[in-house]
Amino acid sequence: QTAAPNQGLTDGMHFLADTLIANGVKNMYGVVGIPVTDFARIAQAKGVKYVGMRHEADAGNAAAAEGFLTGRPGVFLTVSAPGFLNGLASLKEATENGWPCIQLAGSSVRHTVDLHEGEYEGLDQRAYAVPFAKDSFRIDRIEDIPLGIERAIRTATTGRPGGVYVDMPDDLMGQTMDEDAAQKILFTAENLNPAQPADQAMVEKALTLLENAKNPMIVVGKGAAYARAEKEVAEFVDKTNIPFQPMSMAKGLIPDDDPHSTASCRGLALRTADVILLIGGRLNWMLGYGGGKKYNPDVKFIQIDIDGAEFGNARHIDCPLLGDIKTVMGQLVDGLSSHKIQASQEWIDLLAADTKKNDERFGGAETADTVPMTHQNALGAIKRVLDKNHDVYVTNDGANTLDDCRDIVDMYLPRHRLDCGTWGVMGVAMPYAIAAAVTTGKPVVSISGDSAYGFAPLEVETACRFDLPIVTIVLNNGGIYRGDFEDLGDSGDPSPLTLDACAHYEKVGEAFGATGYFATTPAELEADLTEALASGKPAFINVQLSVHAGVESGHIGDLNPKPVVGPL
Ligand code: ADP
Ligand code: MG
Repeated sequence: QTAAPNQGLTDGMHFLADTLIANGVKNMYGVVGIPVTDFARIAQAKGVKYVGMRHEADAGNAAAAEGFLTGRPGVFLTVSAPGFLNGLASLKEATENGWPCIQLAGSSVRHTVDLHEGEYEGLDQRAYAVPFAKDSFRIDRIEDIPLGIERAIRTATTGRPGGVYVDMPDDLMGQTMDEDAAQKILFTAENLNPAQPADQAMVEKALTLLENAKNPMIVVGKGAAYARAEKEVAEFVDKTNIPFQPMSMAKGLIPDDDPHSTASCRGLALRTADVILLIGGRLNWMLGYGGGKKYNPDVKFIQIDIDGAEFGNARHIDCPLLGDIKTVMGQLVDGLSSHKIQASQEWIDLLAADTKKNDERFGGAETADTVPMTHQNALGAIKRVLDKNHDVYVTNDGANTLDDCRDIVDMYLPRHRLDCGTWGVMGVAMPYAIAAAVTTGKPVVSISGDSAYGFAPLEVETACRFDLPIVTIVLNNGGIYRGDFEDLGDSGDPSPLTLDACAHYEKVGEAFGATGYFATTPAELEADLTEALASGKPAFINVQLSVHAGVESGHIGDLNPKPVVGPL
């Protein structure tokens, strides 16, 4: 096909690509089809790296991960109705995680959609997106493209970041305007994340609370990682000796082997702390809503957040610090010159003793050479390799695979662990791995359970097509949670939890050119992962676990309702 001479005109597709590029969009994930195929081609021709994926939710998850890793909205592209709807799930996940992300979707001609005339893939997409997105826009006119994209970028990044939907009806793609006039209205959104200090009186209040605390403690969440506050948080911990608890994706903000980490004595630390400084985390289900048996009844909370509506979500916050974490932590560090804040040796010793006890109690399972393997000794083998490769990104999903990996595999660098997140979503490890490799160029290890892997299994083809340095690991225990459940009735069918424990998942990778490994012992796994990482190429390690390994619902079994009567 040869394009018509442009006669000094641009069209919707070209102008949209120009606008994205002017706003620093480097990568776009997606699945093409009517009406966005040519737009993807044009964007690629203009220099955007277009990563074609195998499912729209994967494209959305990849874009969201890029948002977390870069602080700029990740962008993904979907077709109309079904592709759009597939993508919406991940847009909502991005919003729940507080990660900036933009879904661009083509949609069908407005007037036929609006009269329900039976248009091909006709759906009022902008309206459908509203409850799933931080905001939802439609660009109807070519001259509104720069405005619409700026609005999307600002909405995605300002305050608590989130997912934004942008609807592009197919007649927008074909609209034209004078090229020079278009260039004049092409602008770049500036000042997206300026420093936002907290009120100084509140900072003084926080410092005084910490000064008078007997057992002060810090909880760092993924908001601190997103805010790139590692230097300030580390300095504050270092100068005050206050112990910290990293939430899952804040692991590595301060290295996990730092002596101030309470990762191995979380229960005791939360129960005995009397003042908790919560930095970029929410008092949601993961933190027991900040109350109940997990906490000292008199505990006082200091919370830093960019979203003022977050304070008091589930309990009163004694000292809300509204601002951006990097700046506010800088204010707290500055305040140390006029406040004597030091965690007591007694408190540090108490936590250290509990850490030692727990490490002795659980450490053995990680180094055992029992076969078939358990999650613990398989992840112990993975840990030994990753301890020698700190710059590797780890993406992780599953139930036991997630919980045990979080506990066993230490992280040493910020924003290097991406997992199921606030919603506990399965199927994120592969798309997050794609985004981590594309965005950073660094090696990635994706660690999934056999069930979780099944939600995005073909993204290994994407990894191979783009020759990304991703090692995909599946811990196969043959089921959801575990592989040894029996069906309760007499259907003779497998249990609802059962999957194939003998499946050779590595052959999925081999089908597309990845090097496949089948590891049955910790020593094999350690050797395979070492070799796979050194290759810098796509690789796939299928790890055979025992079907008895794992517990139902992993560490969150208490969230699983149990039958009151009946056979269980
Ligand atoms: P975790 O799951 O790790 O506990 P959450 O996602 O629940 O973390 O919480 C992260 C919090 O960080 C959110 O409430 C979000 O508003 C906040 N946040 C994100 N970016 C910033 C920032 N730059 N400054 C301050 N707060 C931020
Ligand atoms: Mg399993």
